[in-house]
Amino acid sequence: MSLLIVGTTALDSIKTPYSENPRLLGGSASHAAVAASFFCSPQLLGIVGNDFPQEYLDLYKKHNIDIEGLEVADGKTFHWSGEYEVNMNNRHTLETELGVIEKYNPSLNSKQKAAQYVLLANCAPQLQHHVLDQVDKPAFTIVDTMDLWLNIAREELLRLLKDVDCLVLNDSEAHLFTEEDNIVIAAKKLHAAGPRYVIVKKGEHGAILSSPQGYFLAPAYPLENLTDPTGAGDSFVGGLMGYLANNPDGDIEDRLRRGMIYGSVTASFCCQGFGLNTTTATTRHDIDQRMNELRKMTNY
Ligand code: AMP
Repeated sequence: MSLLIVGTTALDSIKTPYSENPRLLGGSASHAAVAASFFCSPQLLGIVGNDFPQEYLDLYKKHNIDIEGLEVADGKTFHWSGEYEVNMNNRHTLETELGVIEKYNPSLNSKQKAAQYVLLANCAPQLQHHVLDQVDKPAFTIVDTMDLWLNIAREELLRLLKDVDCLVLNDSEAHLFTEEDNIVIAAKKLHAAGPRYVIVKKGEHGAILSSPQGYFLAPAYPLENLTDPTGAGDSFVGGLMGYLANNPDGDIEDRLRRGMIYGSVTASFCCQGFGLNTTTATTRHDIDQRMNELRKMTNY
């Protein structure tokens, strides 16, 4: 089954207390697509400028990511820079340069319109809605977002939520969105805005799914050393959607649960290297091995 992913395809400059790495391959759609590529061959929809290195385009292709929908335009690629504190849970955005994505207004081709699974990775809700509106009849749609859009595009996001199956966001964003500290009450309010499924990510403490059947708790894989958590959330949702697209039969709730565990595992590899360095060096065998470890850790 086909998976369509739209979001940012970026150059990231990442600073941690121990190291500085300029212009790495990043962006919500890049992280999500590489994570999804362990399970299926996703179609990537996005835009880069003519400063985007050829080696990054080659990397997408090496991972069986369909980049027919990746536009190369005259101008600069979306560039994000961020800095982590000694406690790697705290990150500050230093700069966001939109570049060519500012005027990006994609028209989908027939293959993209026919996608069964749609991942609206973190980007402007207007762009997410514009893409979703063009997809013929998706089987399952998921939207990821961040605090920036809750602050500057809340109305657009609320309109979009009426049209998607699942919303994924982290706990601080859920609090910001609903003004609720309690995650259970926050999830109820988010369901009331439209999505049948709500996933709240809690960083190193895993993620919780709220659905018509109740709750599911997905653990995070415990890591001793965290190199760079940038893109972990995107890898989580990319792994989840890649799994769903590759396993289209059966109960959606069961598939979502298993997909969340695959998402946790792909996100854990992401955190072990800068940008996409470790994720792109990971194999499906590594993923399955860590799935088994997680199964043992949660069995009682
Ligand atoms: P995460 O660590 O999961 O929050 O994702 C970080 C990724 O999101 C980086 O690769 C950035 O390029 C990308 N990013 C940062 N700011 C934005 C934004 N405003 N819209 C979309 N993507 C962004």
